This record gives sequence, structure tokens and C-alpha cells, in this order.
Amino acid sequence: MTGPTTTFSALGLCDELLQSVAEKGYDTPSEIQIEAVPAILSERDVMAVAQTGTGKTASFVLPILHLIHNAKKTDSGLIRALIIAPTRELAAQVATSVEAYSKYTNLRSFAVFGGVRIESQLIELQKGLDILVATPGRLLDLYNNHSLSFDDIAFFVLDEADRMLELGFIDDIRHIQTLLPKQRQTLLFSATFSKEIKSLAQGMLKQPISLEIKNTNNNINTITQMLHPVEKERKTELLRYLIEQHKWHQLLIFIKTKRDADALRDTLGEAGISAESIHANRTQHARTKALEGFKQGTIQVLVATDIAARGIDINQLPCVINYNLPYVPEDYVHRIGRTGRASAEGLAITLFSEDEAKQLRAIERSTGRQFKRHFIPAFAPPKKVIEKKVEDDGDLYGHFEADINPKKKAKGRGRKRRGR
Ligand code: AMP
Repeated sequence: MTGPTTTFSALGLCDELLQSVAEKGYDTPSEIQIEAVPAILSERDVMAVAQTGTGKTASFVLPILHLIHNAKKTDSGLIRALIIAPTRELAAQVATSVEAYSKYTNLRSFAVFGGVRIESQLIELQKGLDILVATPGRLLDLYNNHSLSFDDIAFFVLDEADRMLELGFIDDIRHIQTLLPKQRQTLLFSATFSKEIKSLAQGMLKQPISLEIKNTNNNINTITQMLHPVEKERKTELLRYLIEQHKWHQLLIFIKTKRDADALRDTLGEAGISAESIHANRTQHARTKALEGFKQGTIQVLVATDIAARGIDINQLPCVINYNLPYVPEDYVHRIGRTGRASAEGLAITLFSEDEAKQLRAIERSTGRQFKRHFIPAFAPPKKVIEKKVEDDGDLYGHFEADINPKKKAKGRGRKRRGR
């Protein structure tokens, strides 16, 4: 995390929270934390533009915990804060953060989302809790069941609001808003600030403090981005070649459809490369297991669709691969933002077929950079298609071997990097 230096205790957080933050190993607050924590502690509404990877979750969770912890007089277990997230993964991840940060308080938190049995969630809700994290659909199901009361909610957070709108949750969100007490503090976090987000914020926030953390482009500029032109039908073959050639580990591969994700997982598996897929059709249990295996290193490759990958918390991945280019340039930025976080070096590789030229142009326009095409001779598309001279680019990945292949020693460190 970069940005101006201050300390967590200077932000005014209570000792119980400082202890858990120290235990997480955070030395200094990130830029969004420096901006958002005092704003939220001043009990104002906040509208913040900040991407995943900036430390945004702690920037709203910590001050909310502080305010609830200080105000709490009894162990009543009434829901004081409601945090809405667009996907199950994000909801689960935010809940994990809430739990970690509230470790030394007596506050209880829980996450509810679809894809798991509602009965087990009902049992947890009946025990009473202070902070509820939820996806919109499951939250409304529980509310309509009379399993929840919103009467004591003092904090309402919309996390990744832009993604909620993309996923069509606008009506659910507006509905939820009408069910909440009018006296409350509302926080809206979004990766982008579009017309739609502005209008959502206007109807929801009262004289908000606006914050914008503009470090995404700096982040992506620390990532080496490679583009390998290849015929569409040969992408899997090229991928296998790259993985086997370099013996890479911990690769996150983005792919367009759920079916393609499973097919790629199977093909890689048959080739002896341990792979798992995560997408919306997989059960929560299967997704969690895949993610755990990937984090622990028992699974070498995780194949994910954009929606499933959104919000999964994997820090400092050495490499991400785009099997296809996304239609929306912001998705490209989100994808590659998985690597090279917190100033660690990152590598993002795109397997590019000419039918994706339109998406590539959109990404180039949006990120303001031109991609150099790096041809792998055995996989270069026929010249008549690409109308370019194929040259051997040599050892493109030597510099990264130590990061992506855990068995290799750090070699090539300090050498000039290529492909920037
Ligand atoms: P987020 O943007 O909330 O998805 O957070 C991205 C990652 O940064 C998470 O893994 C956090 O645990 C981590 N993180 C949050 N705040 C800090 C901090 N101040 N210093 C170091 N890491 C942090």
C-alpha cells in the first residue's frame, strides 16, 4: 500500500481494533483508509471511488466497528450495520474481514448469501448479531420471511455499487433502502463513478463527503502486460505450452463463459496440471474449496469467470492470464489488478486472437497504452491473418521465473524488464 504516511492509531481507532490491525500485519493505513476512516468517524455519509486492492474494505469496516463498539451498552445483538455486496464471494470475504477486525471486541457478525441452505443462516440470525453482510437477493428473502429486523440499523454500506448495478440489483437496492430507518449513516463504495452511480448516490446519501482514490493506473503501470497473438483454436495448446515450459504455479486464468471454464479445467487436468474452476454455477462449497486449494498451492491453476473472480481476496498473485479479453475495459483493469498488488511485481498475459481486436482497441483507449504483440514462434498465427513479421522474442519470462515457479531460485533479478 502506498500513499501518505500516518498510523492507524492517529486515525482515532480504539485499542481493540488497533490490536487486530497489528495482528493482520498492516504497518500503515492505505490512502483510502487515511481518507475514509476520519470521514466515517465524523458520522457523515461517504461516497468513495476506490477499487479492490486499495484496502477499501478495512476503510469502512474499521470505523463502523469503532462506532458500534463505543456505542454498545448491552449484549443485545441487534443488527446495527448492514453491508451489501454484489456477489457471494465478496460478501464472504467482507464478512471474513469484519470477523478478523472485530476479534478483540464482543461484536458478532455474519454473512448471508444465496447458494447455501437458508436454514443454517436462520439459526445464526436467531443467535443475534451486530453486523450483517449480505447479497441483495438473500437479504430480501430473509426479510420477507420475517427472519430479520432492520429497525436498529444505524450504518448502511453498499460495497462495489457499480457492480451491483451491472448485475441488475438496482431495484433490490432501492427496495432495501425503503425498509431501513431514515436516521442512519450511509456509505457507498464504487470502483467507478458513472452517471448511474451518481444518481443512486443522490437518492441515498445525505450531503456526503466524496472521496476518490486515483491510484489504479499507477498500480497497473507496475504490471508487465504481455500479449501473445494466437489462433483462437490453439489458445489451450499455447497455455499448456507456457505452463509446462515455465513450470508456473498459482496462475489465475480469466475466461469468458462458465462452460469454457469447466472445459479448460478438465483439459488442463487431463494434461496433469492441477486446475479448478470457479463460476456462478458451482456450489458455494465447491468455490470455497477451490479457492482454498489455490491459496494453499495444492491447485496450480484457478480458472474463473469475471463475476466469480470479482472480489476474491488473493493478494499479490505472481501472474494472471486472460484466456479471452473481456468486453468491458474496466474488467481488464480489475483482472490484472490481481497481480502486482501492494507494489509487488506483477505479470499479466493475454492470449489474443484477432476476433478480439475490438476489445483490445477499447482497452488500449481506456488504459492509454498500446500493447506490443509478442509472438511465440510455434504458435504465431498465419502471416496472412496478422500481416506481421514473426520474430522470436527470446526469453520473455526469465525475469519472472522466480516468482511464478517456486522451485526456481531468484534468477534475473534486477535485469531490465521487457514488454512494458
Ligand atoms: P481490499 O481493497 O479491501 O480488497 O483489500 C485488499 C487487500 O489489502 C486485503 O488483502 C487486505 O487484507 C489488505 N490490506 C488492507 N489494508 C491494508 C493495509 N493498511 N496494509 C496492508 N494491507 C492491507
